[in-house]
Amino acid sequence: MIIVLKPDITKEEIEHLTEKIKAWGLTPVVSKGIERSIVGVIGEEDVLRSQPLEAFPGVEKVIPILAPYKLVSREFKSENTVIDIKGISIGGKRIVNMAGPCSIESYDQLKGIAEHVKISGAQVLRGGAFKPRTSPYSFQGLGEEGLKMLREIADNLDMAVITEIMDPRDLGLLEKYTDIIQVGARNMQNFTLLKEVGQSKKPVLLKRGISATVKELLMAAEYILAGGNFQVMLCERGIRTFETATRFTLDINAISVIKQKSHLPVIVDPSHSTGKWNLVAPAAAAAIAAGADGLITEVHTSPEDAFSDGEQSLLPDRYSKMIDLIGSVAKAVGREI
Ligand code: PEP
Ligand code: MN
Repeated sequence: MIIVLKPDITKEEIEHLTEKIKAWGLTPVVSKGIERSIVGVIGEEDVLRSQPLEAFPGVEKVIPILAPYKLVSREFKSENTVIDIKGISIGGKRIVNMAGPCSIESYDQLKGIAEHVKISGAQVLRGGAFKPRTSPYSFQGLGEEGLKMLREIADNLDMAVITEIMDPRDLGLLEKYTDIIQVGARNMQNFTLLKEVGQSKKPVLLKRGISATVKELLMAAEYILAGGNFQVMLCERGIRTFETATRFTLDINAISVIKQKSHLPVIVDPSHSTGKWNLVAPAAAAAIAAGADGLITEVHTSPEDAFSDGEQSLLPDRYSKMIDLIGSVAKAVGREI
């Protein structure tokens, strides 16, 4: 439920209203807009039906939110959320490019890749230090040692950092090194982890689960917003279908569906969704044409030697060509890179 406040509501009246809402066992979330402020009410709303909310001073009207996700919905916030990370806007007119290796393997490996993607125009450096691998015998990541490399190399190149969290106990550690916390596909419904990152002040990129519906993705994001962290980006990274020609199936529809249903930025991962380097650029172009706010792409200087996901990693010059391609597409749809 959304309570729309009158433009001239006083601080005391807002406080009176939010205290009452808390007393009914619900959580009020005040969102201050330019023209109007609103209060989103989270929790079992039935109790509100018997309350004369419109009789409260300063309340203009009460609108029920029909979607099961409240804070994430466009009904709650009609304008797009724009997240600012060190001067990089995500969700505005400009497309954001995040790129780097699947895994951080060594200082020199990461530095070489970072320098290339920076020249091509990427603003955010990606690299996994804790890797969710199908096999327990595969490379699991360098842990904190890798995070240190990521931070140092990104700082030297004036780039922001994104890296994946796997364990809620690592939140403090990750917060020390990263600008964006990535919650991977395999953890999209790890509710303990979602609640934990909901307490963080760092922006979160939430990847769609391999078999998750858009509604489940939005409900997962709701956990993070309900914890107080509104800086969330949603990532379409391909879903599992009967098709085996590609690693996953990029759900292009999901981009516009999410954009219609939610105010949160949408990032597309053309690497994991295709699983093949020669399909990455066309998938990226399609994503931008469909309205994605950015891309997260795997790049490697020596894909055949990569510790993980070499077959879907672009060589730097191919990444550069991909950026040129998406630049033209962005222009055609009224965006810029
Ligand atoms: C990744 O980005 O490295 C990754 C593991 O992605 P996903 O969670 O989408 O599989
Ligand atoms: Mn990967």
